[in-house]
Amino acid sequence: MDVIRRGERGKQKTWQWLMVLTAQRVLCTYCGRSPSTTIDHEEPIAKGGADVWWNFVPACDDCNRWKKGRSAGSWVANLDLHHRFPKAGFATRGMRPEVYAGITRRVERVQREIADMDRREWFRLHYGGERHQNKTELAEILTRCKMELRGYPHYPWRTPKLGKSPNVCTRLMCCGYQHPKAKHMVAFLNREERDAFRRAVFNGRAHEGDVLGRLIREYLLGKEHRGDDGAT
Ligand SMILES: [Zn+2]
Ligand SMILES: [Zn+2]
Repeated sequence: MDVIRRGERGKQKTWQWLMVLTAQRVLCTYCGRSPSTTIDHEEPIAKGGADVWWNFVPACDDCNRWKKGRSAGSWVANLDLHHRFPKAGFATRGMRPEVYAGITRRVERVQREIADMDRREWFRLHYGGERHQNKTELAEILTRCKMELRGYPHYPWRTPKLGKSPNVCTRLMCCGYQHPKAKHMVAFLNREERDAFRRAVFNGRAHEGDVLGRLIREYLLGKEHRGDDGAT
């Protein structure tokens, strides 16, 4: 792993590791198959790349070692030449075409995901107090974090904020349920939707609570049948 050199270890806080490693559904940006276990610098440190989050890409050990010292752009250019001129020896090893074809797009996408302010804030608020000393401890915290994320039907940082505190999470589908505002439908429906819902409930001669309960049960049941995690 070329990323954590002597003297640089520990620069990244635990929550920043989690923020990067969990991007793109915890899969390696390059191969899209193995789980991310390392932080790769898109612009290598050796070439003056920054050791900060916007230069990070989650990668598996294997890809990180393979790409070593190159930006994804030049790595792919090299692989591209290898595929077009297999006998010229541009790369030492072939990569599945479907992998290298979209690689720059995937790097951009994962960097956008990591740069998402709401997402970063969520990781800071939830894992800002965590510390790890070694890879084993990090892996343990990452497992916990993955389990937590799996528990949400939607990414919590995409749900509305119910308050304005810089130090506590007030996301509706996360910690925000404790917020007084969360008790009102106003928190997640706009005015028109709310009126339409009330009209429909009234016309169906039902109670709002009953209808909501039914909708939630149907949703959960459908989720079980689809077997997905609902997070897109
Ligand atoms: Zn990989
Ligand atoms: Zn929260």
